[in-house]
Amino acid sequence: MKKDIHPEYKKTTASCACGNVLEVGSTKENIRVEICAACHPFFTGKQKLVDTAGRIDRFRKKYAGFDAVAASKK
Ligand SMILES: [Zn+2]
Repeated sequence: MKKDIHPEYKKTTASCACGNVLEVGSTKENIRVEICAACHPFFTGKQKLVDTAGRIDRFRKKYAGFDAVAASKK
């Protein structure tokens, strides 16, 4: 490795918004993350949607009677 061009790689912690704290190696210190392997829906299997401006609610309202209408047409 070339001298004096590499940032120092050290052990530090990455703390997640869910409260999980991970020990990681990084050139940065005290990393804060919003989502981690302990709380990401992909790993938990739970659904956690970030609903911006109530779009999901609007969608559900719009198609609330859709199943009933589709069934009556059969
Ligand atoms: Zn987390």
